[in-house]
Amino acid sequence: MSSHTLTNQPSSILLKNGLLATFTKKDGVTTTPSAYRVDVLIQGDKITAIDESRRLSPPDDSLIIDCTDKWIAPGFVDTHRHVWMSIVDGHEDWTLTEYVAKLTFTAALHVTAEDVYSGELAGCLQALHGGTTTVVDHFHCANSAEHIEKAIQATAESGLRSMLCVSRQSLPSSFEPLRFDNDVQISEMQIQTLKTLAAKDNGRLTPDGRVTLGLAYDMQGLNPPEDKRIISLARELNITPITAHYVGGPHAKAYSKKAKMWKDAGLLAGDVIFSHGSDLGRKGCDEVEWELLRESGASIAATPEDELGMGHGDPVIYEAVRRGVKVGLGIDCASITSTEMFPAMRFALQHERGRVHKMTADEDKAPKYNEFTAASAFRLATLGGAEAAHVESKIGSIEVGKLADIVLYDANSVNLANVIDPFKGIVFHATAADVEWVIVNGEVVKKEGKLVRKEWSEVAKELKRCAGNVRERYKELDLDARYDSVIKQFGLETV
Ligand SMILES: [Zn+2]
Repeated sequence: MSSHTLTNQPSSILLKNGLLATFTKKDGVTTTPSAYRVDVLIQGDKITAIDESRRLSPPDDSLIIDCTDKWIAPGFVDTHRHVWMSIVDGHEDWTLTEYVAKLTFTAALHVTAEDVYSGELAGCLQALHGGTTTVVDHFHCANSAEHIEKAIQATAESGLRSMLCVSRQSLPSSFEPLRFDNDVQISEMQIQTLKTLAAKDNGRLTPDGRVTLGLAYDMQGLNPPEDKRIISLARELNITPITAHYVGGPHAKAYSKKAKMWKDAGLLAGDVIFSHGSDLGRKGCDEVEWELLRESGASIAATPEDELGMGHGDPVIYEAVRRGVKVGLGIDCASITSTEMFPAMRFALQHERGRVHKMTADEDKAPKYNEFTAASAFRLATLGGAEAAHVESKIGSIEVGKLADIVLYDANSVNLANVIDPFKGIVFHATAADVEWVIVNGEVVKKEGKLVRKEWSEVAKELKRCAGNVRERYKELDLDARYDSVIKQFGLETV
């Protein structure tokens, strides 16, 4: 294994006597499974045995981890994250249009390839630190071939599993009026880079296949022949998944009803991930949109924490679960929300419960039980995420034959010692501090609470230096004046 030679790791790992919390392919979306004690054997990059009798004898050179006081769980699958955005900060109070004006149309123009490397590396390590082992990385800072190259390099060095979706998108050449005069040139660069990367090793960006090439495409509808050309090319080149923002509402009218738009353009298929899908919950659900999603197998990647705060619209996660539409969770941006998936699970579940309680209370009634359990949110962040990313045959659960992407929680920790059920503990009580070991592709990348591949203090030093440089480059610009200009140009009515 190339990953093992990189870090000189054992060829097999035995997780001895741990409490296993996982959904499996046998469970339904609303099943509440029970945890049970097992030995888990990892050989190379795969899970090769799960033994309830706990009598597995591992090969001689195995690393044996005593899991008596640990919970064994699958790593999280984050279905929507802009990983590079760890290089920018201070977006926690912004609305969505404010983000577009101040980040997309301003700060992103001042991020160099060096900054991308730094942000991407930090972002990947933040994911691993919190037990996220896979991300669908919507990389919308593909400003040059070097930006793309640095994003790949940092991701590969981090050890994270990533579907690195390079965005076909350019930044404005003029702000008022908004113009994108460099788009043809940028498009050629991005398409050429995608072709080169896809041809090299069939979309594998690392020899072990941990980092693979995807496409992010938010341009749909602007130039239909171009949409067709690019999406068809991606499919010919096996670039997967294809991810696109789908929002709708006052902040993002152009991003509404995406399923029908993609369908009508002949582009909708089961390799698509729509981020947010908030429009599906606005003013009653749109039946046609839901049906198109369900029947095509296209999925929703929801990021409830920032959807609620920025004006995307209410999360539609549990409505998707009810309707049999694939749905996963994500954090979106480290500059807005937590880098951890724990809050994403809590926001998803508690928002839904709050919605139902309010609806019934408005009729002076109360639900006897909550409809969805903690385990349902655990599923969204693990196997559900893998389904939404269209890779459930490989990751998302702890089952024999799957890739070994595993998190060990310290069940004696300050947060978890009083909790019996790992599903409840992981969803409601855990933080990155309780994530003791993280294994990706059979390689230990976090060991006894500490990241293995990189020294975080060094990464942090570089991150702060580069982030300072980015801020310095646009410090003279009046961000609120730019926001006002975008409000006007977008025709957004604000109150
Ligand atoms: Zn996004």
